[in-house]
This record gives sequence, structure tokens and C-alpha cells, in this order.
Amino acid sequence: MKLIPHLIAGQPTSGAGGTAVFNPATGEQTAQVASGGRGEIDAAVTAARCAFPGWAATPPAKRAKVMYEMRRLMEARKDEIARTISAEHGKTHSDALGEVARGQEVVEFACGIPHLLKGAFSKNVSNGVDCYDERQPLGVVAGITPFNFPAMVPLWMMPMALACGNAFILKPSERAPSAPNLLHDLWREAGLPDGVLNVVHGGKDAVDAILDHQGIAAISFVGSTPIAQYVYARGCAAGKRVQALGGAKNHLVVMPDADLDQAADALMGAGYGSAGERCMAVSVAVPVGEKTADALVAKLKPRVAALKIGPSTDAGAEMGPLVTAAHRAKVSSYIDAGQAEGAQLVVDGRGLKLQGYENGFWLGGTLLDRVTPTMSVYRDEIFGPVLSVVRARDYEDAVGLINANPFANGTALFTRDGDAARDFADRIQVGMVGINVPIPVPVGFHSFGGWKSSIFGSHGVYGPEGIHFYTRLKTVTSRWPTGMRSGPQFHFTER
Ligand code: NAD
Repeated sequence: MKLIPHLIAGQPTSGAGGTAVFNPATGEQTAQVASGGRGEIDAAVTAARCAFPGWAATPPAKRAKVMYEMRRLMEARKDEIARTISAEHGKTHSDALGEVARGQEVVEFACGIPHLLKGAFSKNVSNGVDCYDERQPLGVVAGITPFNFPAMVPLWMMPMALACGNAFILKPSERAPSAPNLLHDLWREAGLPDGVLNVVHGGKDAVDAILDHQGIAAISFVGSTPIAQYVYARGCAAGKRVQALGGAKNHLVVMPDADLDQAADALMGAGYGSAGERCMAVSVAVPVGEKTADALVAKLKPRVAALKIGPSTDAGAEMGPLVTAAHRAKVSSYIDAGQAEGAQLVVDGRGLKLQGYENGFWLGGTLLDRVTPTMSVYRDEIFGPVLSVVRARDYEDAVGLINANPFANGTALFTRDGDAARDFADRIQVGMVGINVPIPVPVGFHSFGGWKSSIFGSHGVYGPEGIHFYTRLKTVTSRWPTGMRSGPQFHFTER
């Protein structure tokens, strides 16, 4: 059985223990991933601490050269990265290529690090006194990432942390560990010195060791809300800077004046793409008015029933399997609960079998109508190909529904009405908003982050927020002797 090792100081090490890794399309175990704890995290921190001073002292323009080379390598090997993602996650090849491209955007942004680290300078703030800001790296920082974007989410963190001059330890999801190891090898090939980036695999033991380690200055976490909350509380209690991005329940509002075909197509991609295993997936459609709702459901029903589901090797597939058998069972149980609680099952994806892939973790697209806010299918993040329709009486009802939801990652409004769009963007209590754009993931030179239970901490990831998170501000006020003596001063001086 293939063993996926930790990568510490550039060297593979396996240690004791391990977790099974599956191909979700076939249901077969394909590898065993190493499972680290305090020992491996200690070793990674030691390697990172050794490498940090040299890397932090490397001129930003030279660090940028590593970013440029990483960008080139990713472009040249994007097919291989995408295949590696799909083999453990199950997403289609084209979707995995999209994931690689979005991660690459952050590398591209990090290429501009000499400019991004420029500080403000104020000359002559007092007689002969100048004042300037600089942003210094934090030291050794860590990232803990989820299974659903095994390359993109680590790439939200690594280029930013590294370009800023930090050493980085990645603890990827144990369910999709191969793409992070491949990225590590590409960074090395791009010229990153050994020890500046380390990968330690594992679950709770490795995470707890990161949270408690006094040699780690900051933690970026992306995953489910309960774990995000835990990581934030324990990491902060240990004196670290923490950003912890959590789960989501994203609504797409369809106004009566919207182009319904466009809205239905958008809901198909945003609801069922990547089998709904995206933190920006739309899991709730909110048609405004009964007429809009009836027409929208009528358009969605045949589209959902006709979804092309298959393995990533099938170029025609629109959606792959779920990541594990346990996750499929969980998603399936939500469909049972929705039905029991009174939702109307319009399309049922349970029991799907694919010829030649009988043991894969398949679940067909599912559409539930007349879902209400008290049902568990509405309250909880399901993270599967299940779209719930919650019918809103009017626009205010739709806004009230979204603003009352504890999750606040993304949302979208489909309309032709500029007033409604402007009002929605202004009043909606959600971090990322789309106007006729179903999945408003910000591009690499903006920053990503939800509000409320979708984030803990004060910084979003990548873009300008990433620079701020991975550096700390120092402000220097300086005077050079001029020969003029003013004598001691015991009070603040007036300018
Ligand atoms: P998860 O919370 O189960 O795991 C995330 C990370 O935490 C993994 O590295 C895992 O090993 C670790 N972990 C799991 N249980 C732990 C525990 N008890 N103690 C300490 N560490 C633990 O999330 P997942 O299932 O891998 O990913 C899906 C979730 O991630 C969804 O909720 C999704 O919305 C969320 N997500 C959010 C964003 C965002 O930007 N807000 C992006 C992607 C995914």
C-alpha cells in the first residue's frame, strides 16, 4: 500500500500510525497517509525556526522570484495537480483545473510582494524627524485545511505567508493529502529553501499540537464551523494570532424580474458543482413570490434529474461522487430528515449506482421544495448535492431570512432591478455578495472571508488581508544628530 509521508525540512518521514485514503469513485483504498502528533509538529517547528531567519532576510524581490517560478511550474503541471486532486476528492477534472487556476491566482498576487510590503513614509513629522512603517513577518506560522479544496485552500495561505517572509507548516486534510505533498515538491523545485515549508499530516492530535506550540506565532484554519470555533478559542488562548474560516449556508435569491433560465443554470452549477462540497456552494434557492417559485422549480426539476454524474476520468461528467462513504451516509440522512419534516422531494438522488463503479460514494442531485427555516435541511450545512427551495413572500422576507441565518459566507441576488441589487448589496449581512453571480469568490487581488459563524478572527484570507494577517506593523520614528541641541523635553511636543 502506498504511504503518503510528512515532509519536514524537505525530507519524507512516515512515523507511526496512519489513516486510509480512498478513491471516492471506486470506493477502494489507494493509500495510507502518515498521522502525526506532537513529535512531528515539534520537528516541523524546529526545521521552520532554523530556516526562518535566512528566508526573512531574503530580499522580497528574491522571494518574488520563487513565486514566479512556482506560477510557471503550476501552469506546466496543472493537469497532474488536477488529477491528483480528483483521485482523492472525486471532483471532475475540469473542476479540479479550475481549483488549480484559483490557487495560482494567489501565487500571481504574491509575485508583487516587493510592492505589497511597501510602507508609508512621512518626512519631517517634527523638526528633523521622519516616520515610516514597515511590515515584518511573524515567524513560524501554520495552516490547517479542509478536504474540499486540497490545493486551492493551502494556496490561499502558502504564497502569502511565504512571500511575506514567514516559514510555514501545513496540516492538510487527511482525506485528500496527496495534492498538498505535490505542491510542497513544486515549491521546492521553484527554489524555496528546505524547512521554509513543511507538511505534517494527521487529525486532531496534529491540530492540537499546532494550537499549543509556543514556537508557532499564527494559525490560519479553514474547515467546518465547530472546529473553526475550537481552533480560534484554543489558539487565541495560547497567545497566537488566529484566523478561522468556518462553514456556510449560502442563499441565492431569485426576484420575479430575473431571467429564470439564467437563474436555473446558475443554481445548477452553484448547487451541484463539486457535488455541493464547496463552502461557497448555493444550498438554498429563495424564489420571491409563489409564481416565481413554481416557474423556477419547474425549470430546475428536469435539469437536476438529467445531471451527468461520473468519475473524474469521464470528460462528460458534471458532478462526481462524495468524498467518503461516511459523508454520503450523512448527506443521505439529511434527505431522509427533510422528507420526514415535511419538505417536498422533487428529485431524489438516493440509491444512485454507476455501472463499473458499484462501490463508489455516489449520490444523485436532490431537490427539495417548500423547505422552512425550522427544518434541519435548512438549519445545518449539508455539504452535498442537495438544493433546498425556501419560498419567500416578498423581497423583504428574503432579506430577513438571510440576515437571520447564523452562517454568512456568500449569497447572491438574481434580478434586473438596479435598485434592488444596490439595496441587497448594502443591507445583506454576508461577507461575499454576488449580483447575478452565483458564486462570488473574490479574485486573488481582493480577499476572501465570510461574516458571523463563517469566520472567527478579524482577517480574511489572501489578497490585502493576507498581507496584514501574515505580517505585523512596525513604525519607526527617527532623528539623525544635526548638531542642534534642544535639551531634555519632559512633555509631548506640539507640531
Ligand atoms: P473539518 O472541519 O472536518 O476539517 C478541517 C480540518 O480540521 C482538517 O484538517 C481536519 O483534519 C481538522 N479536524 C477535523 N476534526 C478535528 C477536531 N475534532 N479537532 C481538531 N482538528 C480537526 O472540515 P472538512 O470536512 O475537511 O471540510 C468541509 C468544511 O470546511 C465545510 O464545513 C466547509 O464549509 C468548510 N470550508 C470552509 C471554507 C471557507 O472558506 N469558509 C472553505 C472550504 C471549506
